[in-house]
Amino acid sequence: MNDPRPKEHSAADLLRELFPDTHRELFGEGRAATDAPPTLGLYPVADGRLALVHGDQLAEFTPIAPKGTSALHCDLCHHTRSRSEAAIYRVVVAARRTRYVTLCAPTGPCQGRAGRAGLEALAGRIFPIENIYAE
Ligand SMILES: [Zn+2]
Repeated sequence: MNDPRPKEHSAADLLRELFPDTHRELFGEGRAATDAPPTLGLYPVADGRLALVHGDQLAEFTPIAPKGTSALHCDLCHHTRSRSEAAIYRVVVAARRTRYVTLCAPTGPCQGRAGRAGLEALAGRIFPIENIYAE
């Protein structure tokens, strides 16, 4: 049995990067960085957002309010979902380029169905991200 949940230490590392306050709350101060192997996965972060991590690349998925009532097609595991079973996320991949990704909720079993190959295909659609925050 594959455990579809992301590795806990990787999620913790991600939290430390994105939301240091949350990380401190959850894991306390002074936790050393781990030598984790290249990571690939979607990690729930905060406010319903997901972070897609592939190695040292990171993309933030922000949930948006879906329009209409038609069924949704998950872009990761390719199951058809009702509105209550999936969410649509907005991903800014460049200064003027945004992608929309539909994913099952919760993400854990979805990633389990998709497997690493599915996650790599999704990452291939998203990365590379133009660093719009560069000075
Ligand atoms: Zn799915």
